[in-house]
Amino acid sequence: MDKWEEDFLREIVELDTNSDEKKNYTECTEVIGRYCEDAGLKVSVHDSKHDGINQPNIVAELDSGAKNTILLCTHYDVVPAGDEEKWTHPPFELLVKNGKVYGRGTTDDKGNIVACVSAAKELINRGSSKVNWKILVSPNEEIGGEWGIDYLINGPPKIRGDFAIVVDSGPSYVSIGASGVLAGTITINGTQGHAGYPFKFNNAIHLSIPLMNEMLGYSDRRRKITSKLPAPPGSPYQHLWGRFSMTMYQAGSKTNIIPGKAELSFDCRLIPEEDPKDIEEDIKSFLAEASEAVFVDTDIEFKVRLHGWGSDPENPFIKTLHAAVNDAVSSEIPISADLGGNDGHYFTSVGIPTACYGTIADDSNFHGIDEWLSLADYENVKNTLITFSEMCK
Ligand SMILES: [Zn+2]
Repeated sequence: MDKWEEDFLREIVELDTNSDEKKNYTECTEVIGRYCEDAGLKVSVHDSKHDGINQPNIVAELDSGAKNTILLCTHYDVVPAGDEEKWTHPPFELLVKNGKVYGRGTTDDKGNIVACVSAAKELINRGSSKVNWKILVSPNEEIGGEWGIDYLINGPPKIRGDFAIVVDSGPSYVSIGASGVLAGTITINGTQGHAGYPFKFNNAIHLSIPLMNEMLGYSDRRRKITSKLPAPPGSPYQHLWGRFSMTMYQAGSKTNIIPGKAELSFDCRLIPEEDPKDIEEDIKSFLAEASEAVFVDTDIEFKVRLHGWGSDPENPFIKTLHAAVNDAVSSEIPISADLGGNDGHYFTSVGIPTACYGTIADDSNFHGIDEWLSLADYENVKNTLITFSEMCK
């Protein structure tokens, strides 16, 4: 990382742009716009101003006169620092130490913004890019992308390209898909009463036990669902698979009251080929049978419904990106799909093939205390983007 890059990163990390408060959005995009222009990019700002708050999105273009345009997806909002007392170094000051750069947002995702702009600067200097670039720098990624990337793609700017790279991602594999999510809460209905008279009431906790046991069967059922996309390194299966976990349980209010109600929340992960609507029906009918089997009255409510996404591993841009990663970083890095979710769906849902590669390492404390960016990963991502753009046809 040279001085220009470090100064750029410092200036944007020093601005707390947490998307809970939506602070410093304008200031931060002014800094980013200035560095983009300095790099030789053409900058346009698309403010999705909402609820009286300015929410600028930046599109920084490298026009090399090529026929294809690549979208690079990054974001400048961060999650709140949390308990600042617990940080070894102040979260909104940049500290470079032993090959790492510390500060909130250094890896997620401000370091990736700098890597994109710096790679573009290098390509402009060399005059070597075989594709045009649009670097998308959005707010609100950490809260779902509304008025951010969603606005750029589906709102009036209607940004389009031939291929998208979500740089808001990790360095251990090239991701070409992500899991969908269905989450919700099952209510177990009993009757409330005095604990001295248990024979008079239907204890919701006692009713929950056999029901939860039945629902373990749904975890088994989900495990057998297999995607055609490969699972990430370290997974127990070769291909992405379905998952169902019971994640929260709440019941009771006092030791001497038989609880009349219990709430069991769950998180179900879908493979990209599945439609959340179908799986919602599947969960409902499994629960209905399970409830009947153990004589429990239940209701179910779904709170999160997200479609997964996947791109074709044989797509030429994906093959070129993978070749660029193998060339610029390591020949060991595979193509996989994510167990979690990410923003790729914004692009694939409008027909743009998408892959993900960036600096956010699993152990980088992103969203945690003492977030850091590995300087080696930073250089790898920057070099990958340069190599990719020079390798494209
Ligand atoms: Zn991120």
